[in-house]
Amino acid sequence: MPNSAIVICSSCGTKNRIPVARIGESPVCGQCKSPLNTAAVTTAPVIVTDQTFDREVMAHNTGVVMDCWAPWCGHCKSMDPVLTALALAYAGRIKVVKLNVDENPATTSRFRVMSLPSLLFFKDGKVVDTTVGALSRHEVETHLKALL
Ligand SMILES: [Zn+2]
Repeated sequence: MPNSAIVICSSCGTKNRIPVARIGESPVCGQCKSPLNTAAVTTAPVIVTDQTFDREVMAHNTGVVMDCWAPWCGHCKSMDPVLTALALAYAGRIKVVKLNVDENPATTSRFRVMSLPSLLFFKDGKVVDTTVGALSRHEVETHLKALL
């Protein structure tokens, strides 16, 4: 199955399945032909910082999973391909973001991130789940279900 994103039409509420490769081509709603707002659809992990966290995570209209990592953390690197695959597989439904804890102490302490890698799962601006340690794609997906 080709990778596709679910984009909800702001006019009629229809869920449109848009191939990821066509997101940039100004798609329209299959039901009412209104232009679809694909600006919030991300197909790769997004880097967030103390400055952008509230806008990118708290104000986002879908569930968000945040990977807290550091350059010196070997187990963190093993999460990269997992998160890249999930960002594509859940495009438009779940946003994947990455936070470098060394460079962003405010957000790190705000959520009391003590161990790396940690995943924080956000829904409607609240943390609904957390995990610690490297996980497989399947393991992360069991936690993502609560965000859909
Ligand atoms: Zn529509």
